[in-house]
Amino acid sequence: METQHSLGNNPETESRVVVVTSGKGGVGKTTTTANLGMSIARLGYKVALIDADLGLRNLDLLLGLENRVLYTAMDIVEGQCRLDQALIRDKKWKNLALLAVSKNRQKYNVTRKNMQNLVNSVKELGFHFVLIDCPAGIDVGFINAISSATEAVIVTTPEITAIRDADRVAGLLEANTIYNVKLLVNRVRPDMIQKNDMMSVRDVQEMLGIPLLGAIPEDTNVIISTNKGEPLVLNKKLTLSGIAFENAARRLIGKQDYFLDLNTPSSGIEDSWRQKLQDFFLGNS
Ligand code: ADP
Ligand code: MG
Repeated sequence: METQHSLGNNPETESRVVVVTSGKGGVGKTTTTANLGMSIARLGYKVALIDADLGLRNLDLLLGLENRVLYTAMDIVEGQCRLDQALIRDKKWKNLALLAVSKNRQKYNVTRKNMQNLVNSVKELGFHFVLIDCPAGIDVGFINAISSATEAVIVTTPEITAIRDADRVAGLLEANTIYNVKLLVNRVRPDMIQKNDMMSVRDVQEMLGIPLLGAIPEDTNVIISTNKGEPLVLNKKLTLSGIAFENAARRLIGKQDYFLDLNTPSSGIEDSWRQKLQDFFLGNS
Protein backbone atom coordinates (compact mmCIF):
# COMPACT_ATOMS: atom_id res chain seq x y z
CA MET A 1 0.00 0.00 0.00
CA GLU A 2 1.45 3.35 -1.01
CA THR A 3 -0.18 5.54 1.58
CA GLN A 4 -2.83 5.32 4.25
CA HIS A 5 -5.55 7.88 4.19
CA SER A 6 -7.57 9.01 7.12
CA LEU A 7 -11.23 9.77 7.06
CA GLY A 8 -11.16 12.04 10.07
CA ASN A 9 -13.76 11.88 12.79
CA ASN A 10 -16.87 11.75 10.74
CA PRO A 11 -16.64 9.00 8.14
CA GLU A 12 -20.28 9.20 7.23
CA THR A 13 -20.02 12.60 5.67
CA GLU A 14 -16.81 11.82 3.90
CA SER A 15 -17.19 8.44 2.22
CA ARG A 16 -17.98 8.69 -1.45
CA VAL A 17 -20.71 6.40 -2.70
CA VAL A 18 -20.40 5.88 -6.43
CA VAL A 19 -22.74 3.75 -8.48
CA VAL A 20 -21.34 2.20 -11.67
CA THR A 21 -24.21 2.03 -14.08
CA SER A 22 -25.28 1.77 -17.72
CA GLY A 23 -28.49 1.48 -19.65
CA LYS A 24 -27.48 -1.42 -21.85
CA GLY A 25 -26.20 -4.66 -20.31
CA GLY A 26 -22.82 -6.20 -21.01
CA VAL A 27 -21.00 -2.93 -21.65
CA GLY A 28 -18.46 -3.40 -18.85
CA LYS A 29 -19.93 -2.24 -15.52
CA THR A 30 -18.57 -5.15 -13.52
CA THR A 31 -15.17 -4.97 -15.22
CA THR A 32 -15.10 -1.25 -14.43
CA THR A 33 -16.14 -1.68 -10.79
CA ALA A 34 -13.47 -4.33 -10.20
CA ASN A 35 -10.68 -2.38 -11.86
CA LEU A 36 -11.53 1.05 -10.47
CA GLY A 37 -11.96 -0.49 -7.01
CA MET A 38 -8.66 -2.34 -7.15
CA SER A 39 -6.81 0.73 -8.45
CA ILE A 40 -8.20 3.00 -5.76
CA ALA A 41 -7.40 0.41 -3.07
CA ARG A 42 -3.85 0.20 -4.37
CA LEU A 43 -3.57 3.94 -3.95
CA GLY A 44 -4.15 3.37 -0.24
CA TYR A 45 -7.85 4.06 0.22
CA LYS A 46 -10.34 1.79 1.94
CA VAL A 47 -12.74 0.61 -0.74
CA ALA A 48 -15.93 -1.44 -0.46
CA LEU A 49 -17.46 -2.93 -3.58
CA ILE A 50 -21.13 -3.78 -3.44
CA ASP A 51 -22.32 -6.27 -6.02
CA ALA A 52 -25.90 -5.25 -6.63
CA ASP A 53 -25.91 -6.89 -10.06
CA LEU A 54 -27.49 -10.29 -10.03
CA GLY A 55 -26.40 -10.97 -13.60
CA LEU A 56 -24.29 -13.83 -14.74
CA ARG A 57 -20.77 -12.50 -14.56
CA ASN A 58 -20.32 -11.32 -11.04
CA LEU A 59 -17.86 -9.18 -9.22
CA ASP A 60 -16.71 -12.03 -6.95
CA LEU A 61 -15.55 -13.96 -10.02
CA LEU A 62 -13.63 -11.03 -11.43
CA LEU A 63 -11.83 -10.60 -8.13
CA GLY A 64 -11.19 -14.34 -7.69
CA LEU A 65 -13.24 -14.32 -4.47
CA GLU A 66 -16.13 -16.56 -5.52
CA ASN A 67 -15.25 -19.30 -3.05
CA ARG A 68 -15.18 -16.84 -0.19
CA VAL A 69 -18.75 -15.62 -0.51
CA LEU A 70 -20.39 -17.34 2.44
CA TYR A 71 -22.85 -14.64 3.41
CA THR A 72 -24.56 -11.95 1.41
CA ALA A 73 -26.45 -8.76 2.14
CA MET A 74 -29.62 -10.84 2.14
CA ASP A 75 -28.29 -12.80 5.11
CA ILE A 76 -27.62 -9.55 6.96
CA VAL A 77 -31.14 -8.31 6.23
CA GLU A 78 -32.55 -11.61 7.47
CA GLY A 79 -30.42 -11.45 10.60
CA GLN A 80 -28.37 -14.51 9.67
CA CYS A 81 -25.01 -12.78 9.96
CA ARG A 82 -23.27 -9.50 10.76
CA LEU A 83 -22.01 -7.05 8.17
CA ASP A 84 -18.38 -7.85 8.90
CA GLN A 85 -19.05 -11.52 8.15
CA ALA A 86 -20.51 -10.71 4.76
CA LEU A 87 -17.79 -8.25 3.79
CA ILE A 88 -15.07 -10.32 2.13
CA ARG A 89 -11.60 -8.86 2.14
CA ASP A 90 -9.44 -9.23 -0.93
CA LYS A 91 -6.73 -11.86 -0.65
CA LYS A 92 -3.91 -9.39 -1.17
CA TRP A 93 -5.33 -5.91 -0.74
CA LYS A 94 -6.96 -6.03 2.67
CA ASN A 95 -8.31 -2.50 2.29
CA LEU A 96 -10.53 -3.77 -0.55
CA ALA A 97 -13.75 -5.47 0.52
CA LEU A 98 -16.62 -7.03 -1.37
CA LEU A 99 -20.25 -7.38 -0.38
CA ALA A 100 -22.54 -9.50 -2.52
CA VAL A 101 -26.18 -8.53 -2.32
CA SER A 102 -27.62 -11.90 -3.19
CA LYS A 103 -26.38 -15.32 -4.16
CA ASN A 104 -29.53 -17.05 -5.12
CA ARG A 105 -30.44 -14.78 -8.04
CA GLN A 106 -33.77 -13.91 -6.51
CA LYS A 107 -34.16 -10.59 -8.10
CA TYR A 108 -35.84 -8.02 -5.95
CA ASN A 109 -35.46 -9.40 -2.50
CA VAL A 110 -33.45 -6.43 -1.30
CA THR A 111 -35.58 -3.36 -0.86
CA ARG A 112 -34.55 0.20 -1.32
CA LYS A 113 -34.57 0.73 2.43
CA ASN A 114 -32.42 -2.42 2.93
CA MET A 115 -29.92 -1.08 0.44
CA GLN A 116 -29.76 2.33 2.10
CA ASN A 117 -29.23 0.74 5.52
CA LEU A 118 -26.49 -1.49 4.13
CA VAL A 119 -24.62 1.35 2.49
CA ASN A 120 -24.90 3.42 5.66
CA SER A 121 -23.46 0.56 7.73
CA VAL A 122 -20.61 0.14 5.26
CA LYS A 123 -19.90 3.87 5.44
CA GLU A 124 -19.79 3.70 9.21
CA LEU A 125 -16.95 1.18 8.93
CA GLY A 126 -14.81 4.00 7.55
CA PHE A 127 -14.57 3.16 3.87
CA HIS A 128 -13.39 6.07 1.74
CA PHE A 129 -15.13 4.72 -1.33
CA VAL A 130 -18.19 2.56 -1.77
CA LEU A 131 -18.57 1.44 -5.38
CA ILE A 132 -21.88 -0.14 -6.32
CA ASP A 133 -22.01 -2.45 -9.34
CA CYS A 134 -25.46 -1.74 -10.69
CA PRO A 135 -27.73 -4.15 -12.55
CA ALA A 136 -28.44 -3.41 -16.20
CA GLY A 137 -31.68 -1.78 -17.19
CA ILE A 138 -33.71 0.83 -15.42
CA ASP A 139 -36.18 -1.16 -13.38
CA VAL A 140 -36.52 -1.58 -9.63
CA GLY A 141 -33.06 -3.21 -9.27
CA PHE A 142 -31.52 -0.10 -10.77
CA ILE A 143 -33.52 2.25 -8.56
CA ASN A 144 -32.49 0.29 -5.44
CA ALA A 145 -28.85 0.29 -6.46
CA ILE A 146 -28.70 4.04 -7.08
CA SER A 147 -30.77 4.98 -4.03
CA SER A 148 -27.83 5.51 -1.70
CA ALA A 149 -25.32 6.83 -4.22
CA THR A 150 -24.36 10.46 -4.50
CA GLU A 151 -22.19 10.00 -7.57
CA ALA A 152 -22.35 7.86 -10.68
CA VAL A 153 -20.10 6.53 -13.41
CA ILE A 154 -22.03 5.76 -16.57
CA VAL A 155 -20.37 3.09 -18.69
CA THR A 156 -21.10 2.91 -22.39
CA THR A 157 -19.57 1.46 -25.50
CA PRO A 158 -19.29 3.68 -28.59
CA GLU A 159 -22.41 2.15 -30.13
CA ILE A 160 -25.55 4.08 -30.73
CA THR A 161 -27.82 1.67 -28.82
CA ALA A 162 -25.61 1.80 -25.73
CA ILE A 163 -25.29 5.58 -25.97
CA ARG A 164 -29.03 6.04 -26.24
CA ASP A 165 -29.56 3.89 -23.15
CA ALA A 166 -26.79 5.76 -21.33
CA ASP A 167 -28.62 8.99 -22.08
CA ARG A 168 -31.81 7.66 -20.50
CA VAL A 169 -29.86 6.60 -17.43
CA ALA A 170 -28.31 10.07 -17.21
CA GLY A 171 -31.83 11.51 -17.11
CA LEU A 172 -32.91 9.05 -14.41
CA LEU A 173 -29.88 9.80 -12.29
CA GLU A 174 -30.66 13.48 -12.46
CA ALA A 175 -34.29 12.82 -11.57
CA ASN A 176 -32.96 10.99 -8.50
CA THR A 177 -30.81 14.01 -7.60
CA ILE A 178 -27.50 12.42 -8.54
CA TYR A 179 -25.74 15.29 -10.27
CA ASN A 180 -22.13 14.21 -9.98
CA VAL A 181 -21.97 11.95 -13.02
CA LYS A 182 -18.99 10.92 -15.12
CA LEU A 183 -18.65 8.96 -18.33
CA LEU A 184 -16.50 5.94 -19.08
CA VAL A 185 -16.36 4.82 -22.69
CA ASN A 186 -15.41 1.16 -22.94
CA ARG A 187 -14.38 -1.18 -25.74
CA VAL A 188 -13.03 1.59 -27.94
CA ARG A 189 -11.35 0.48 -31.16
CA PRO A 190 -9.04 3.10 -32.64
CA ASP A 191 -8.68 1.10 -35.87
CA MET A 192 -12.44 1.29 -36.41
CA ILE A 193 -12.58 4.96 -35.47
CA GLN A 194 -9.94 5.67 -38.05
CA LYS A 195 -12.06 4.02 -40.73
CA ASN A 196 -15.10 5.94 -39.55
CA ASP A 197 -16.73 2.69 -38.49
CA MET A 198 -16.90 3.72 -34.86
CA MET A 199 -17.63 6.97 -33.05
CA SER A 200 -14.64 8.56 -31.39
CA VAL A 201 -14.55 8.97 -27.63
CA ARG A 202 -14.95 12.69 -28.12
CA ASP A 203 -18.07 12.20 -30.26
CA VAL A 204 -19.61 9.96 -27.60
CA GLN A 205 -18.76 12.45 -24.88
CA GLU A 206 -20.24 15.32 -26.84
CA MET A 207 -23.41 13.39 -27.63
CA LEU A 208 -24.01 12.68 -23.97
CA GLY A 209 -22.63 15.92 -22.57
CA ILE A 210 -21.21 14.16 -19.51
CA PRO A 211 -17.65 14.82 -18.29
CA LEU A 212 -15.24 12.08 -19.30
CA LEU A 213 -13.68 9.89 -16.64
CA GLY A 214 -11.86 7.64 -19.05
CA ALA A 215 -11.78 5.59 -22.21
CA ILE A 216 -10.86 1.93 -22.23
CA PRO A 217 -9.73 0.11 -25.36
CA GLU A 218 -11.16 -3.15 -26.60
CA ASP A 219 -8.56 -5.55 -25.30
CA THR A 220 -8.41 -9.35 -25.10
CA ASN A 221 -6.48 -8.92 -21.84
CA VAL A 222 -9.80 -7.90 -20.26
CA ILE A 223 -11.23 -11.33 -21.02
CA ILE A 224 -8.06 -13.10 -19.89
CA SER A 225 -8.10 -11.24 -16.59
CA THR A 226 -11.79 -12.02 -16.09
CA ASN A 227 -11.09 -15.70 -16.56
CA LYS A 228 -8.14 -15.57 -14.20
CA GLY A 229 -10.14 -13.71 -11.56
CA GLU A 230 -7.51 -10.99 -11.38
CA PRO A 231 -8.30 -7.40 -12.29
CA LEU A 232 -6.21 -6.04 -15.17
CA VAL A 233 -4.67 -3.33 -13.08
CA LEU A 234 -2.79 -6.05 -11.17
CA ASN A 235 -1.05 -7.26 -14.31
CA LYS A 236 2.73 -7.04 -14.08
CA LYS A 237 2.84 -6.59 -17.84
CA LEU A 238 1.69 -3.14 -18.89
CA THR A 239 -1.52 -3.25 -20.89
CA LEU A 240 -3.20 -0.26 -22.48
CA SER A 241 -6.53 -1.16 -20.90
CA GLY A 242 -4.92 -1.57 -17.47
CA ILE A 243 -3.29 1.85 -17.69
CA ALA A 244 -6.53 3.36 -18.95
CA PHE A 245 -8.41 1.96 -15.93
CA GLU A 246 -5.72 3.21 -13.57
CA ASN A 247 -5.91 6.67 -15.06
CA ALA A 248 -9.68 6.65 -14.71
CA ALA A 249 -9.29 5.68 -11.05
CA ARG A 250 -6.84 8.51 -10.46
CA ARG A 251 -9.25 10.91 -12.07
CA LEU A 252 -12.08 9.65 -9.90
CA ILE A 253 -10.13 10.37 -6.75
CA GLY A 254 -9.01 13.68 -8.19
CA LYS A 255 -5.34 12.79 -8.15
CA GLN A 256 -4.52 13.33 -11.77
CA ASP A 257 -5.66 15.32 -14.67
CA TYR A 258 -5.65 12.68 -17.30
CA PHE A 259 -5.49 14.94 -20.31
CA LEU A 260 -2.81 17.22 -18.97
CA ASP A 261 -0.73 14.26 -18.01
CA LEU A 262 -1.00 12.84 -21.48
CA ASN A 263 0.52 16.00 -22.86
CA THR A 264 3.41 16.20 -20.44
CA PRO A 265 6.61 15.28 -22.22
CA SER A 266 8.54 12.40 -20.74
CA SER A 267 11.02 9.86 -21.93
CA GLY A 268 11.38 6.21 -22.82
CA ILE A 269 8.74 3.55 -23.02
CA GLU A 270 6.11 5.65 -21.24
CA ASP A 271 6.06 7.99 -24.20
CA SER A 272 4.61 5.44 -26.55
CA TRP A 273 1.88 4.55 -24.06
CA ARG A 274 1.10 8.19 -23.51
CA GLN A 275 0.92 8.74 -27.25
CA LYS A 276 -1.36 5.75 -27.67
CA LEU A 277 -3.70 6.98 -24.98
CA GLN A 278 -3.74 10.46 -26.38
CA ASP A 279 -4.56 9.15 -29.84
CA PHE A 280 -7.28 7.20 -28.22
CA PHE A 281 -8.97 10.27 -26.86
CA LEU A 282 -8.64 12.14 -30.06
CA GLY A 283 -9.83 9.12 -31.99
CA ASN A 284 -6.96 9.46 -34.42
CA SER A 285 -4.74 6.49 -33.90
P1 ADP B 1 -21.64 -5.66 -17.45
O1 ADP B 1 -21.28 -5.76 -16.02
O2 ADP B 1 -21.96 -4.27 -17.89
O3 ADP B 1 -22.72 -6.63 -17.86
P2 ADP B 1 -19.08 -6.94 -17.93
O4 ADP B 1 -18.11 -6.11 -17.18
O5 ADP B 1 -19.50 -8.21 -17.32
O6 ADP B 1 -20.35 -6.05 -18.32
O7 ADP B 1 -18.49 -7.18 -19.39
C1 ADP B 1 -19.19 -7.92 -20.36
C2 ADP B 1 -18.22 -8.72 -21.20
O8 ADP B 1 -17.42 -7.84 -21.99
C3 ADP B 1 -17.26 -9.56 -20.39
O9 ADP B 1 -17.08 -10.80 -21.02
C4 ADP B 1 -15.98 -8.76 -20.40
O10 ADP B 1 -14.83 -9.57 -20.29
C5 ADP B 1 -16.05 -8.10 -21.77
N1 ADP B 1 -15.35 -6.79 -21.78
C6 ADP B 1 -15.61 -5.73 -21.00
N2 ADP B 1 -14.78 -4.70 -21.30
C7 ADP B 1 -13.97 -5.13 -22.29
C8 ADP B 1 -12.88 -4.54 -23.04
N3 ADP B 1 -12.48 -3.30 -22.80
N4 ADP B 1 -12.27 -5.30 -23.99
C9 ADP B 1 -12.67 -6.58 -24.21
N5 ADP B 1 -13.67 -7.19 -23.55
C10 ADP B 1 -14.33 -6.49 -22.62
MG1 MG C 1 -22.21 -6.94 -14.55
